[in-house]
Amino acid sequence: MKIYSIGGYNEVGKNMTAVEVGGEVVICDMGFFMEKIIPLQEESNIVPDDILIKEGAVPDDSVLHNKNVVAIVASHAHLDHIGAIPVLAERYKCPIIATPYTIEIIKHLVKDRKKRRLLGYLTPLNTGSTLKITQNIKVELVHITHSIPQSTLIALHTKEGIVTYLNDYKLDNTPTMGKKPDYERMKQLAKIGIKAHIEECVRIEEHERTSSEYIAQIMVHDALNRAYESGKAVIITTFASHIARIRNIVKANQNRRKIICIGRSMATYLKAAATLNLIDLSDIAICPSKNQSGSVLEKVAKNPTGYLLIVTGNQGEPNSVLSSIAKNDLEYKLQKGDEIIFSSFTIPSPINKANKHTLELLLKKRGARVINNVHVSGHAKREDHRDMIRLLKPKNIIPSHGNMEKLASFSSLAAEEGYVLGKTFHIMANGGMVEIK
Ligand SMILES: [Zn+2]
Repeated sequence: MKIYSIGGYNEVGKNMTAVEVGGEVVICDMGFFMEKIIPLQEESNIVPDDILIKEGAVPDDSVLHNKNVVAIVASHAHLDHIGAIPVLAERYKCPIIATPYTIEIIKHLVKDRKKRRLLGYLTPLNTGSTLKITQNIKVELVHITHSIPQSTLIALHTKEGIVTYLNDYKLDNTPTMGKKPDYERMKQLAKIGIKAHIEECVRIEEHERTSSEYIAQIMVHDALNRAYESGKAVIITTFASHIARIRNIVKANQNRRKIICIGRSMATYLKAAATLNLIDLSDIAICPSKNQSGSVLEKVAKNPTGYLLIVTGNQGEPNSVLSSIAKNDLEYKLQKGDEIIFSSFTIPSPINKANKHTLELLLKKRGARVINNVHVSGHAKREDHRDMIRLLKPKNIIPSHGNMEKLASFSSLAAEEGYVLGKTFHIMANGGMVEIK
């Protein structure tokens, strides 16, 4: 079998890997490179395909153009894993397989980019289920925990053995939404034998395990309790796709304030979650765009302690609702002592760090109080990776979703676990290929 490292091997994001067995190719993920997308989106939300390709904001899949691609499988609904599907998938004319929640989000992206022809290829598959693609290839989705609903480990059953793709995940044994990882099935796959395993390494350099979302639930509760004591307006920002976190914010609010979610991506992810009964929106008002937020924010201005705003902008994105509030561009003007809670970490890319710094300075200039890092990560850390390697016992490991430093950091862990660089542990770069015998 051949494994193609198409994107996400020189950077965090832009994820795309392909597995070729017997002349048939399965693609795992087609993601955006968010660092490149964010500045392009300052002009318009829908950046034309040719510009995305030219700027390297989507993976360069040219190595697959003349191959027999039989399926595209998406691991979960984060944009750095599915954002490029509407841009790249059309030429392959094959099923696009993912869990129902991921499919809902892909539907939105496809419609936004006016690629309705792709809708016919969307193929929902539940975790715990397997789908036969060809005589020689079956796709199985295994439940895993991450920071978005219905995340999966992809298991490709081929005539040359099993390939597993685990990008992204954390090991959350006390999740606040859904079940803990499907350890039983992973053990069974290990017993059958995994020939090659592709795994994320976003937080491989941190020598610890990642905390459970249960910890974040407690942190959010405490942050809101303290903020409400101040008797001021409270605005909380988090990842729009982090449905478990938004549910935890709603729970922590305990009906004390009326909740309003503002932002385009907030509306998209929340409505998709509500469609699948993953969140109850009956007590939550959703405003799908900051341009339509005028009348809602006027009410907030009259009664700031009556509302909790959940908004986009946790990475300081200049187009976000929080940035617009900070710039005094919307109907609610920040008052001295208003509390802004970031239920997030700043993803440490130069553009995010700069955007977040600019936003924080502006918020403070308006007299607001900023509470950072009310958050736990959605990514496995070094000791989780060790647990996973021992659980799956793959013959070969290919680290993915990281720059050279992260991939190399995984190699020292793999060496400790008995893998040999270049033989059973393979460091790849974008555009590369490794043959596994
Ligand atoms: Zn992810």
